[in-house]
Amino acid sequence: MKTRQCVSCGAREGMRHFEGRGETLSVKGMERRVDDLSGWECQQCGEVEWDDDTDSAERYCDAGDELVIAARQMIGAEMKRIRRKLHLTQKETVQLLSGGGHNAFSRYERGETLPPKSLMLLMRLLDRYPYLLTDTKTLSEGADLRGFKHTIHKEHETLTVS
Ligand SMILES: [Zn+2]
Repeated sequence: MKTRQCVSCGAREGMRHFEGRGETLSVKGMERRVDDLSGWECQQCGEVEWDDDTDSAERYCDAGDELVIAARQMIGAEMKRIRRKLHLTQKETVQLLSGGGHNAFSRYERGETLPPKSLMLLMRLLDRYPYLLTDTKTLSEGADLRGFKHTIHKEHETLTVS
């Protein structure tokens, strides 16, 4: 068994060589399998180092990148479907639900950026309960505090020590 010191945790003979390994990467329920990987893995801390003289690192990273892009596009398509179902423009959606720049939603739909989790949840809730859109609009107006006025009530309190 080929072993060597771990580059990460320093464990002596911690790393063991492997080859012909298949790994399945998973992002948001989507999977990619990468076969015939070779490198070193630490038995102590789990650190993995791919063999330099193979394309293991490249194929592993590519598969991961592909998955992340595919996941963003899948969510983008979902956001677009829900927005259209609700008969909202991208601009209206941003104004109503998330705030931020008016191009933000277009970036989410194109899969360039992952929407914030809270926005994703709101969209999915409205997908499931579209009738809540009316309430959402009412609440959203109430939440606009730019015209907020406040009155300070001064109350005189007397502390009594007995
Ligand atoms: Zn280690």
